[in-house]
Amino acid sequence: MITLRADWVLPIAGPPVRNGFVALEHGRIVAVGDRPPEDAVPIGHVAILPALVNAHTHLELSYLHERVPPSGSFNDWVRTLMALRRGHPDPAAPVILDAAKRAIAQARASGTGLVGDVSNTLETVALLREAGMAAHVFHELMGFNIHDPAGKVEQARAKAQAASVDERGVRISLAPHAPYSVSPALFAAIRADVDAHPNGVSTVHLGESADEVELLRYGTGMTRTVLEELGVWSDTWCPPGVSPVEYLSKLGFLNARVLVVHGVQFEGGDLARLKAMGSTLVSCPRSNRYVGVGEPPLEAFYAADVSVAFGTDSLASVADLNMFAELVEARRIAPQVPARRLLHSATLTAARALGFERDYGSIEKGKCAALIAVRVPDQVDDVEEYLVSGIEPDAVTWLDAGGMHA
Ligand SMILES: [Zn+2]
Repeated sequence: MITLRADWVLPIAGPPVRNGFVALEHGRIVAVGDRPPEDAVPIGHVAILPALVNAHTHLELSYLHERVPPSGSFNDWVRTLMALRRGHPDPAAPVILDAAKRAIAQARASGTGLVGDVSNTLETVALLREAGMAAHVFHELMGFNIHDPAGKVEQARAKAQAASVDERGVRISLAPHAPYSVSPALFAAIRADVDAHPNGVSTVHLGESADEVELLRYGTGMTRTVLEELGVWSDTWCPPGVSPVEYLSKLGFLNARVLVVHGVQFEGGDLARLKAMGSTLVSCPRSNRYVGVGEPPLEAFYAADVSVAFGTDSLASVADLNMFAELVEARRIAPQVPARRLLHSATLTAARALGFERDYGSIEKGKCAALIAVRVPDQVDDVEEYLVSGIEPDAVTWLDAGGMHA
């Protein structure tokens, strides 16, 4: 057993502890608290906290970093992304896999220990396992005008099974992309598959752009134009005439085990509905800005008491996978939300949403010793506020039961 002593310990499950300690054995937390024992090893002017959780990213798109320019128009961003992806038909091309590997390493170096990774190809599963990064991989399906949704789901299920999953470290389930790219029948088939499997969490992009809202209300607008351009529009689809949240709850897709990503366009009624259903709302504020859909109403999310998590989204729409940088943007947009709640979102809320709360998300006895130490200057009094003010990877060190390693 080793006991580490630090200026600060942030259990997340409780308030920060000044001059705290954490005791670790066999890769697990065995004790945490104030009044460190005599033999505790001092690790200095740092805050010990649980590894951060990135609840939404697409590692397989890492090779598109800085290749899709920031946009004032979401649809232009989508058009460029789709053109680039269609020009790269081999999902296992070295350029794609190498970029994903570097992205995983970058996420880890900035303190992330668990990710919710969205993948169309499942090429990232092996990379995550190799890197020892815990993950829930969402095998994402699209199909707005497909004829055999059950067959598509069956195929995807077989592929997920074949990806040789290690239930502890990397899990896989199916997920629909978004209401404008998935038909009602495909939503139903995915829901049936997710329900049939344990650890059955799922995710969906929802309420990202104003065009999506227009499409669902009236069946018109730029999203429709883009779908027509891509040759995937369906003439049999009828606009439901409701908000994105109402639409997916009427389809029976939303529940407490769904991570709803973005919500930039959500209003009071949507938030109340999500709260009632227990879904987690994953906000990716830096990506929202990059793709030109505006700012998420974060203060309203928290005021509605919805479970909020954060994600970086992919490197095609964000500068880096540093979750601390995402917290800076969240702090800027939501100055009234206490730093403690933002940190809870980036750790325990997200770990719970992904179904990893037994091991991740907080410093509590029995959980896995996936802990980081963040350098904190001596004079800092409000450590939580400091941690959402911008932490660079060089201030982050990983801890484990054997001591410290960079
Ligand atoms: Zn996304």
